[in-house]
Amino acid sequence: MNIVLATRNRKKVEEIRKIFASMKIEPRFYSLDDFPECTEAEEDGVTFEENAVKKAVQIFKCTKMTAIADDSGLEVDALKGAPGVYSARYAGEPSDDFANSRKLLDEIKDISDEGRGARFVCCIALAEPDGVKTFIGYVKGRIGREMRGRNGFGYDPLFFPEGHDRTFAEMDDTEKNAMSHRGEALRELREYMVRQAHHDSCHPELVEGKIPDKPE
Ligand code: IMP
Repeated sequence: MNIVLATRNRKKVEEIRKIFASMKIEPRFYSLDDFPECTEAEEDGVTFEENAVKKAVQIFKCTKMTAIADDSGLEVDALKGAPGVYSARYAGEPSDDFANSRKLLDEIKDISDEGRGARFVCCIALAEPDGVKTFIGYVKGRIGREMRGRNGFGYDPLFFPEGHDRTFAEMDDTEKNAMSHRGEALRELREYMVRQAHHDSCHPELVEGKIPDKPE
């Protein structure tokens, strides 16, 4: 099975490959670097789902291949869910992880420890010839008072996942992926694809790429 990942972000491509490595039918992944003629959709939706679907559909149409796209961000309780879909450009464009974290710390500097709850959200969209499906993952936690740790990206140095006294930036990839919003959404997607592959193997006509008149 061939799948194109609607991103040029190498970290995301690697993370997705890792999660799928344990699948029996390992898909062959391409990224947008393999399709320089295809442009990424603008992230102008008001929900993660809207953006992920838009990105996946645009790349599916351009490549004529099954496409996966994700959209993610941080929702902070004290800011009524901001920065949300604007997480990447919270402190303006071009996107700057350090400036975004500084701005967030500043916005909630007067908020008590109890009021610093937040969650990361990730929506993954899968665009195929017969439609689009979405998979959502969350991780709850709280925002610290200073940046801690050097791993990861984005708001990782500020985010303490629930039940932990280390930020995501103080964890390695494997530990973070096991509890992260993106890890959860990708595992949901993987389970869906495993079920689908099993279903297809009972329907050789689907494996050949033909759709029966009345699929069971
Ligand atoms: P996008 O999904 O590539 O649009 O990125 C959304 C933004 O949300 C990123 O630039 C980060 O600021 C933030 N973000 C999403 N996921 C994570 C994460 O796992 N750790 C830290 N920041 C994240």
